[in-house]
Amino acid sequence: MAAMDRRAAAVMVVAAILGIVILAGAAASVAAKDWAVGAAGTRRAMRILLVEDDKDLQRLLKKALGEAGYVVDAAADGEEGHFLGDTEPYDAVVLDLGLPKLDGVRVLEKWRKAGKTMPVLILTARDRWSDKVAGFDAGADDYLAKPFYTEELLARLRALLRRAAGFATADIDIGPLHIDTRASRVTLDGNPVKLTSLEYRLLAYLAYHRGKVVSRTELVEHLYDQDFDRDSNTIEVFVGRLRKKLDANLIQTVRGLGYSLEDPALGTSHLPA
Ligand code: CA
Repeated sequence: MAAMDRRAAAVMVVAAILGIVILAGAAASVAAKDWAVGAAGTRRAMRILLVEDDKDLQRLLKKALGEAGYVVDAAADGEEGHFLGDTEPYDAVVLDLGLPKLDGVRVLEKWRKAGKTMPVLILTARDRWSDKVAGFDAGADDYLAKPFYTEELLARLRALLRRAAGFATADIDIGPLHIDTRASRVTLDGNPVKLTSLEYRLLAYLAYHRGKVVSRTELVEHLYDQDFDRDSNTIEVFVGRLRKKLDANLIQTVRGLGYSLEDPALGTSHLPA
């Protein structure tokens, strides 16, 4: 009996240790997710909604977008897709037109009617020119006919995001700061600056909104996906790290409102007194 108890106790100890190891592993992988740098030089700074009912294609695109550094939420039908696009602030949407529950054209019409202006790239069946027309009429910004190369989707998405932010080229220059958004490379006065994935996303987001005050809530919403534990206090930590790596005057704190990135030489004229 006593031997049984000892054995049971030993099993429990082993189980407890395993549990701790598993928990520690899970915590480490969450941290790794945050810090992982995508395939070399392909980090982006945006949050994307992918609405695609074809499971294989959804998996493939989600992986490709994730590897390109985007934060991605995926939906497999029109209703869920519409709901997410209606309630979450996405920087762009990849929307299949042939969807269960609510078709893509209707989804898009409803977003546009509700005043949602995020760029939308639609995926259409090959040779269905009427789909493209209906898609553009509903407010699409670009389209790709299936089948397509993932690289083309990524290139079109980059162009859409740039245009939405008012930049015609892939390079952003702000004073001494240069950001090459194709390669996710940052230089300061011509010297390369090494950033983590999240630091880059934060910097690029501020750069796309240069001269404007971006709130911490907005940053949290755009830098993390739905499942991430969102804590706006961590933004402060990342801003602090960016300031250390860059010119400290590039990122200004606007008390009570958020942050603003701009050329220090231009002063702070837009900021409230
Ligand atoms: Ca489909």
